Amino acid sequence: MNRISCDICKDLLPLVKDGIASEDSVRAVKEHVTECEACRKLYENEITEINEETPNLEQELGKLKRRIQIFSTMLLMFGVLFGLSLTASEEMFYNSLIMPVIGALGYVIFRWQAVYQIPLLLLIMQSLINFLGLARGMEYMPFVAILMWVGIYTIFVEIGILVAGLLHFAFRKER
Ligand SMILES: [Zn+2]
Repeated sequence: MNRISCDICKDLLPLVKDGIASEDSVRAVKEHVTECEACRKLYENEITEINEETPNLEQELGKLKRRIQIFSTMLLMFGVLFGLSLTASEEMFYNSLIMPVIGALGYVIFRWQAVYQIPLLLLIMQSLINFLGLARGMEYMPFVAILMWVGIYTIFVEIGILVAGLLHFAFRKER
């Protein structure tokens, strides 16, 4: 014997689907659909709809994440090239602003691995810029000077990584 009528079952179905129905309602609907063929079909349709929607949402999130990563990577490479080309020139104080941003972008891309990935990237790129003569201020820098500049930038980069990492951690906790 059914506790609820088909009409009540149909009214409750959307609530059950959205996960906002009370436990009693969910039980009543489940009991009803085991005995009522017509409502069972409705119920199964609703459930498959949910199952189809979930992967789509995940796909969209995945796409968005990939886009953010690609955008961050482009911005990071631009920042690295621009910032390092200023080394030992008069405008090099801009790097105290650029390097923390590079660190934050590095965190978006590499998470905590950015702690060593970004300094390594800076070292490689600064050597390359020096080798190709792209630096604005100075002619050829000795390797010791490159190491020194990358060391100074690394401090600023790590600050950016730390801030981005802590913000990410706080945001995740809040959710
Ligand atoms: Zn029914």
